[in-house]
Amino acid sequence: MSEEIVVIKIGTGVLTREEDGTLDEASLVRLVTSVSELMLRGVPCVMVSSGAVGAGVSALALDGYPDDTASRQACAAVGQSRLMHAYENLFQKFRLNVAQILLTAADLESDKRRDHVMNTLHRLIGAGNIIPIINENDTVAVRELRFGDNDMLSAKVSKLLGARLLVMLSTVDGLQRPDGSVVERVEDIHSVADHVRDDHGKFSIGGMASKLKAVGVALDAGIETVIASGRKPQKLETIVNGGASGTRFTP
Ligand code: GLU
Repeated sequence: MSEEIVVIKIGTGVLTREEDGTLDEASLVRLVTSVSELMLRGVPCVMVSSGAVGAGVSALALDGYPDDTASRQACAAVGQSRLMHAYENLFQKFRLNVAQILLTAADLESDKRRDHVMNTLHRLIGAGNIIPIINENDTVAVRELRFGDNDMLSAKVSKLLGARLLVMLSTVDGLQRPDGSVVERVEDIHSVADHVRDDHGKFSIGGMASKLKAVGVALDAGIETVIASGRKPQKLETIVNGGASGTRFTP
């Protein structure tokens, strides 16, 4: 268990361009810079990154997020390697290494497999210069892929690692009131169901309802969770230090 680990979940909408689903390099540069700054300050970070399916869409000449399972899995097979290639190149500039971990729900359900995942993650984190980057193993995980829920995966990983904080970076600024203003702090997650606006973009997967479900799992495990904008990853430092940005849910 580490009190210090910060899990950062990044949604497809942040990493890919809405027009064509290709990887948004500028967004990746901003994100990697902010995560690297945290790492170099000694904050152990684990990323849960979506974007594999989205990043593969252009190779299969599709004009949107695919509906059928074979196409989604084919896109993920292409896109996951593109994604890791991009992360590896960018993190290298900060002399940091990346490690790819692809998981299915079954891996976290079996005690034995869960222990192996946990030990491997702790070994990687302990090295101090490696950022584990986790995604669902989309080419084999049919059920997970269909419900496409890396929000839940990030909550389960946070619980597995006994993380201090889970930050979900997405295309929204946080939990919004009907007038568009962001709720800064939520102490009772059940009280906010009315605020949920579940719209999301062409290349975004989970909406706010799926996020809140995942937040609930993290809070139950005693993990503070923040939903914030992935377009402003420079706020990560503030968020990790307990400052205001996005919506903070306290257990
Ligand atoms: N694992 C999927 C991907 O990498 C996304 C699922 C999700 O964002 O919930 O494209």
